[in-house]
Amino acid sequence: MRAVVINGTRDVSVEKVDDPVLSGPDGAIVQVTASALCGSDLHFYEGDFAVSGLRPGHEVVGTVLETGSAVSRVKAGDRVLVSPVFGCGKCAGCHAGNGIDCTGGGLRVLGSGPDLPGGHAEAVEIPVADMALMPIPDDISVDNAVLLTDALPTGWTAASRADIRPGATVLVIGLGPVGLYALQSAQVLGAGRVLAADRVPERLAMAEALGAEPIDASKGDIAQQVLALTGGLGADSVIEAVGHDATMTAAINAVRTSHTVSVVGVNANFAFPIAAPLLLIRNVTLRFTTAPVAATWPELIPLIRYGRLKPVDVFTHRLPLTEAASGYEAFADRTDGCLKVLFDPTR
Ligand code: NAD
Ligand code: ZN
Repeated sequence: MRAVVINGTRDVSVEKVDDPVLSGPDGAIVQVTASALCGSDLHFYEGDFAVSGLRPGHEVVGTVLETGSAVSRVKAGDRVLVSPVFGCGKCAGCHAGNGIDCTGGGLRVLGSGPDLPGGHAEAVEIPVADMALMPIPDDISVDNAVLLTDALPTGWTAASRADIRPGATVLVIGLGPVGLYALQSAQVLGAGRVLAADRVPERLAMAEALGAEPIDASKGDIAQQVLALTGGLGADSVIEAVGHDATMTAAINAVRTSHTVSVVGVNANFAFPIAAPLLLIRNVTLRFTTAPVAATWPELIPLIRYGRLKPVDVFTHRLPLTEAASGYEAFADRTDGCLKVLFDPTR
């Protein structure tokens, strides 16, 4: 089959690789019908985490081709959502739906290492099908199904963990798909005022169209702008959806005393300096989260189904998988207004 391979910084190709095989009785092979590019793939593409021969892709929907003997939740022929985060599938943490809590080997992320080749491919093996796969409800569109595999759950979890109270002022830093869905989730969770910071004009305009007040990060320090807009108080809840030192620092500086910062941006800096005395004196709650994707589906599917959450359309680029290299480049360089790329592996 064909699959995307990242061979080094900004070096992407579509190569012929072996078809996936079942790793055990809990696994399933999924024929990919659509997969998307995420900001997390860019960390490999840009060399934040150096890789060679990595098979990326963790936002995937498809059709089950084959299941192991122990799989009961899905069967061959089912159209499925794929959760890219899972654990052993057997321990109490996994049974509660969050691979982060896995005590049987810990969290595993599809498309992030050699043991779990990703879904920017014609097919993918999922080792714990009952934990990671779910049939796609008939009333959920293909676009929304793909979004439910990562971007929406991450935005939703970021907002869910930001202690948003009714009427609160919420700041979202970073208006990629994750930030835009965090913005919409904050509104669903009762935010009164949403401030939305980025430096890409089209993304600021999208946030404004969704009812947020744009903050242009290219025009000065985000925290200073937020303090000026809030009478010096800061934002009640701050969501960080970028993953850079500067934006994490801005998040901490922009939060109101005794309130909460919720970080979902992936920062590759193991030595990020936390201003401990400042956080202590200001009683700041700081949360970091890997989205428990499958655990968000029972919340997000009804919110979408009954129209309470209408995910804004982020797919600016729809490409055959064979054009993956240009998709990665456009996404990384944000050329041609690129906000999110959807790959069709059947073309
Ligand atoms: P993206 O690259 O599309 O969005 C990032 C946004 O941040 C862009 O709009 C960019 O313009 C903006 N930005 C960059 N520097 C900035 C600055 N200094 N000030 C203001 N804005 C700035 O990515 P995405 O797909 O929306 O993902 C966002 C982040 O979330 C990434 O770090 C990604 O790895 C992470 N992520 C985390 C999880 C999780 O489970 N925690 C899951 C998915 C994605
Ligand atoms: Zn992702």
